[in-house]
Amino acid sequence: MPIKGSSTSSASRIKAHTIESIDGCLLWTASVSTQSGYPMCYDEIAGRMDYAYAIEYRLENGPDSLDGGLECHHTCLCHTCLRHVVAVTRAQHAAIHKAERAERNEQATPLIRNLASAGRDAREIKALTGATLGYIKVLLKSDAENPNPQPSIDSVIANLFGGIYANGNEQAAA
Ligand SMILES: [Zn+2]
Ligand SMILES: [Zn+2]
Repeated sequence: MPIKGSSTSSASRIKAHTIESIDGCLLWTASVSTQSGYPMCYDEIAGRMDYAYAIEYRLENGPDSLDGGLECHHTCLCHTCLRHVVAVTRAQHAAIHKAERAERNEQATPLIRNLASAGRDAREIKALTGATLGYIKVLLKSDAENPNPQPSIDSVIANLFGGIYANGNEQAAA
């Protein structure tokens, strides 16, 4: 039996409930949060339930390594992975995922237009493309208001995210 309060018991608990995936992720196989789907584990040191990857991160990097409001970001984008985790501030984390969403939206743009012209509504298009509902609505509204010529992807993104992208894209187009 693990000794309560020792870090070894958290480590052995994690070891017993993970498997290595083909692409090198250390995947959690025990309980996940019914709300978020995130892997949950009892943290022997803190004496409470916590994200399994946060417990693992502190075991690897020290008990204070997530102090000061640091959050865990998965560089492999797999939330049940306990290995590919970096500690970031809340603001950094939001920026990372915002950039990811923007890239996904941009890549999906031709498909969004095809699905819309085939009569799919915004929610169906979201489910089919993984683009965000906000982006789909702004894109289709913009297309509807300016049917000829179609607005550039650049201008739609600029409308959504402000001037940051517009500047970069003007240079790229020049
Ligand atoms: Zn991973
Ligand atoms: Zn993240």
